[in-house]
Parts: sequence; structure tokens; C-alpha cells
Amino acid sequence: MTTSEDLRWLGRAVELSRLCPPSRTAFSVGAVIVGADGEVLSEGYSRELDSHNHAEEAALSKLPAGDPRLRTATIYSSLEPCGQRASRPRTCAQLIIAAGVPRVVVAWREPDLFVTACQGTALLTSAGVAVEELPELAEAARAANAHLID
Ligand SMILES: [Zn+2]
Repeated sequence: MTTSEDLRWLGRAVELSRLCPPSRTAFSVGAVIVGADGEVLSEGYSRELDSHNHAEEAALSKLPAGDPRLRTATIYSSLEPCGQRASRPRTCAQLIIAAGVPRVVVAWREPDLFVTACQGTALLTSAGVAVEELPELAEAARAANAHLID
């Protein structure tokens, strides 16, 4: 079940996606990690810290490994976390599962552009992570990637 707080934080993730240095070969994505008490724990966006960064990875990397707050947090991402990637050994779905984050809220399902049939949601769900989608923000999340898909 999603709430107006979810809409607010996912809106923030979409805002962050507009900060990404543009790339012809990767999506522009923003991510916000919010703790159970509603406090922002971390934020990130694609290519923020290095040219291969994914948004969820950038946000997770700013927190200490094993931060106990992650076990009750929600990750808001403007795009479904990747389940397959060429640039790094671990996908965002794996990083989220390893961090113990129980809930992910996304705006947009990955279109078949760089990988066919993104498995991110399926991987998360099969590991027991709740994945919810707020389609009201899909168009805004997509708009940050208009240079790739239009
Ligand atoms: Zn990723």
C-alpha cells in the first residue's frame, strides 16, 4: 500500500534524476532512502560519484555497510532497480537485498532498451522485498530520459 508520503519521496527521487550527467548508454535515475521514522538517510543519482554509478548504488554507498536503519527503510527509485548490468559485478537488486532493505517504491518499469525484460523487480520480490509502483510519476521519470527513448 502506498501513501502520500510515498508520493512525496518518489517525487524527490524523480527530481534527483534530473541532476544526472546525461549518458547515451544508461538511464538517468534518482534514488532516496527513507528510514522508518520518515527521515532521509541518503540520496543518490546515476553517475553521481563515478561514471558507472547507478542511483540506488550511489545512495547505498553513502551509508555504512550494515547500517541497521536500512532494515526498516524504503528505497524510492525513479526507475525499477536493475537486475542485470554490464558495468559492475553486483546489480542494484542484489545491493538492495544484501543491505536488507525491505521495501522499494518505483515510478517506472525499465523499458527494453539496454536489457530485454528487466528482472530487477522479480529478483527483489523473490528475495522477499516488497516492490510497489506509483504509475502517477512514471511520465516524469521517463521525461528525464527523453534523450534516450524519444
Ligand atoms: Zn542499477
